[in-house]
Amino acid sequence: MEKMSFNFHMPTKVVFEEGAAESLVKHVKGTSLLMMCDPFFYKNGSAQKVAEATHIEKVVFFSEIEPNPSCQTVDRAAEIARSNHVDVVIGLGGGSAMDASKMAACLINNEGSIFDYYSTGDKVLKPRDAQLICIPTTAGTGSEVTNIGVYTNKETGIKMPFASEYFWPDIALIDPELTHTMPSHITASTGMDAFTHAIEAYWSVNSNPISDALSISVIKTILENIETACKEPTHSAARKNMAFASVAAGISFSQTKTTGIHAVSFPLTTDFGASHGLACSITLPAFIKLAYNGRKDKMDALFAMLGYDCVDAFINRVEAIMEAINLPTRLSALNIKESDLKKIVEVSMKAPLIHFTPVKVDEDILYDLLKSIL
Ligand code: NAD
Repeated sequence: MEKMSFNFHMPTKVVFEEGAAESLVKHVKGTSLLMMCDPFFYKNGSAQKVAEATHIEKVVFFSEIEPNPSCQTVDRAAEIARSNHVDVVIGLGGGSAMDASKMAACLINNEGSIFDYYSTGDKVLKPRDAQLICIPTTAGTGSEVTNIGVYTNKETGIKMPFASEYFWPDIALIDPELTHTMPSHITASTGMDAFTHAIEAYWSVNSNPISDALSISVIKTILENIETACKEPTHSAARKNMAFASVAAGISFSQTKTTGIHAVSFPLTTDFGASHGLACSITLPAFIKLAYNGRKDKMDALFAMLGYDCVDAFINRVEAIMEAINLPTRLSALNIKESDLKKIVEVSMKAPLIHFTPVKVDEDILYDLLKSIL
């Protein structure tokens, strides 16, 4: 019999409850709060309500977080946190706000700039002193339960993930009601981001029985709920199910890392302006076809559990859902031409994640995959 051996490490406390943001006082431990939030939630007053729910009197807001947060934005937030002697950081928003909050919280007691630690930086982060609470408002990235932050260097235009033991939030507080305001196109792209997390974790060379169980549940849940969540934004069951799927997918890929889909998503975002979820979902059907060859038995078992008799039937269903929620499956939708492919391949191949795909992916294979969906 084949031996079973794996590790599973996810130290974040998960609090999942409708209206949970109102009971934050039960969770915070500190006297000076930096509320790092998506600009949308500052403008509509929700960030202020969440801050009030902490009962902390000293509160500083930082709401200048752009999608795909820049290193420069993170440094500005850290400076504000240091000068206000912040000991609690809340990241309220999509993956962008949560990722920015992770590094800013660490930099409070780690000297210097993000550039000293990330990319070519040679310093190593010390344990974070401030409490970190992440509250997602999209159902997609799962950043609230990962030790990863993704940052873009505005000067070079390069977007790269960074992992640290001190990025695991102390608390992931998931309140599905916060996702009700997402417009359909953001629900669609972020929801498919969670779907790619689950599917990449499932076929990853690093998968394990716990990540598999989570991924299977996520894939089923998203197939059953994403269309309703897009079409009926306040449908509380669909929103709750998508919020669950996002957090479960995050826990799953936090153990396995992602694979080729995410490697290719970075240049599609930085060079062609695709939102993160769209940059992932656009190559999803083509990657399913490719990765299937490296994981036939496991993928067939998944398809059977979900009621599909072959890989093409599953791909057809995924494509039909993407069409129903207005997500493109052709690179031409991002104005990508054949002459752009060489550079996309070159950048994607530099991301170590590409090697977690369960089949060999080299320059030629990736070029052909992208050409097939032009
Ligand atoms: P986002 O945080 O960039 O937000 C996208 C848009 O949605 C913004 O305009 C924002 O204002 C809006 N928005 C967010 N919540 C809303 C709501 N409830 N109502 C109305 N508008 C809302 O999007 P995202 O997809 O959640 O995050 C993407 C970022 O996360 C990327 O940088 C990506 O690389 C990163 N990411 C991180 C991880 C991780 O583990 N750390 C995983 C996947 C992706």
